[in-house]
Amino acid sequence: MSTSIVMGYATMAQGQALVPFTYEQPKLGEHDVRVSITHCGLCFTDIHGIDNYYGVTTYPFVPGHEIVGYVSEIGKATSSLKIGDRVGIGWLGRSCGECDWCKSGEEQLCIDIVQAGTWVPYGGFASSVVVDNRFAYLIPDAMPSEVAAVLLCAGIAVYNPLRLYTKQNAQKIGIIGIGGLGHLAIQFAHALGYEVTVISSSPTKKEEALAFGADHFIASDDKTSFQKLEFNFDLLLCTAHGNINWEWLLTILKKRAKLVVVGFPDVVFNSTDLVVHELSITGSFLSNRVTMKEMLSFAQEHDIKPWVELMPMSKVNEAIERVKQNKARYRIVLTNDAANASR
Ligand SMILES: [Zn+2]
Ligand SMILES: [Zn+2]
Repeated sequence: MSTSIVMGYATMAQGQALVPFTYEQPKLGEHDVRVSITHCGLCFTDIHGIDNYYGVTTYPFVPGHEIVGYVSEIGKATSSLKIGDRVGIGWLGRSCGECDWCKSGEEQLCIDIVQAGTWVPYGGFASSVVVDNRFAYLIPDAMPSEVAAVLLCAGIAVYNPLRLYTKQNAQKIGIIGIGGLGHLAIQFAHALGYEVTVISSSPTKKEEALAFGADHFIASDDKTSFQKLEFNFDLLLCTAHGNINWEWLLTILKKRAKLVVVGFPDVVFNSTDLVVHELSITGSFLSNRVTMKEMLSFAQEHDIKPWVELMPMSKVNEAIERVKQNKARYRIVLTNDAANASR
């Protein structure tokens, strides 16, 4: 097969299973790199993309944005990377470069964010991908590719708010949910020196939560524990997206404290505590490039690792079913078994 053809997996219409899909490889801009993909994590955002949950998906849609692979081609104006470098790419693959956010180095807030995704035109469930070189990060040599893949989206999603919204003084942090995001949030929060409480709807995950570094565990329906923790937390990080009792969560925040949402749950609550206790509720999306690099070295230094199930990319539909059924522990990374995946 010609090397100018990319072998990928695409969903052809909203909510449909992925099918093998080949396409002409995208042209390389002068600041771009082409990356031959060895690993790509499966994120819930990919499933949302397949289902057009965000209302911006165009089909055929090749998901995948937790990519690790090797640089196979570099644009004329690219000097930061060379052919053969092992790099990782997260959700952000480029940016407009002209809006105020891009100019200030906060490209994750680019005004043209829909066009900035790594999966534009086609994402990482494929033999190769093209991104702006600034968004392809060198991976520490000792870090396994499947570990790096997950850190590039799930890892940065939780590391960024833990760095942005906290101070280094043993603050009390609550992590809601122990899944792909939550199990990393616990490890990062512990390594950053915070007192970590995990709030989960799965009491069976208590031992795992403690093993990841949590100091305390409470079940999300344990009203007595919530009452004891009134005005306790400096920060709550919500990584869950199931049934969440927002009003209970607001009661356990200190006055003027913050609830940060990093998944995409429906948020409904009575605003009394929000107003009276001057609470903040905010989202957090990825990070800038500086924090991404910092996160990768922090994870390497503190041995922070996702639990990963490896599956071949050809089994992508089975992998999606496992994630939908909440069976993945805690993250699935697809390895490239396409015939023309190099290295
Ligand atoms: Zn993601
Ligand atoms: Zn921009």
